[in-house]
Amino acid sequence: MTAAADAVAREADRLTELDSAIGDSDHGGNMRRGFEAVREELGEEVPATPGAVLMTAGRKLVSTVGGASGPLYGTLLRRAGKALGSAERVSREELAGALRTGIDAVAQLGGAVAGDKTMLDALFPAVEALADSGGKDFEAARTAAEQGAEETVPLQARKGRASYLGERSIGHQDPGATSAALLVAALAEADTAVEPEGDADGTGSAQGGSGGSE
Ligand SMILES: [Mg+2]
Repeated sequence: MTAAADAVAREADRLTELDSAIGDSDHGGNMRRGFEAVREELGEEVPATPGAVLMTAGRKLVSTVGGASGPLYGTLLRRAGKALGSAERVSREELAGALRTGIDAVAQLGGAVAGDKTMLDALFPAVEALADSGGKDFEAARTAAEQGAEETVPLQARKGRASYLGERSIGHQDPGATSAALLVAALAEADTAVEPEGDADGTGSAQGGSGGSE
């Protein structure tokens, strides 16, 4: 969540610029306000479990982010958090599965499908890349999400505010897919920073999510 807040703060102007082309120019500001609120909330008291962290962050996003992004990202995190349950530690595979649950909930809430030029065009490829690697390779998820966001450029928006523009939405990268790719990148960054737990025989491998259960 800290890496996400950092990434959103760093790229807020770019998100707003993208949203000014096909939206209402508020995506960067909204996302920054929301993730700073999450950072503050988690800084006051760190919830006891990973699931509780995600649920707390999701609730905060719903209450602080305007537009559609708050409920959508909030739903993603809350549903993912709920899927993790009360486990004190979760594996990469469990987190990957929980993210898929959260992303499916976003798709249901927004009624969007792949190719509608929404955040899902970054999130679906990310979870597919995770699934292809057995739920381990967050770096591959990052690459897939970034590519998915870039591939929204030639699409015509069929959901959200940008859809009001019809064909004029073509030729612009979707702000929601862009912020979604940023969040996946932050996740990959955080994953790289995690020290894998060494196995009892010391064979736990470093980085890349190829070993260890944490
Ligand atoms: Mg907007």
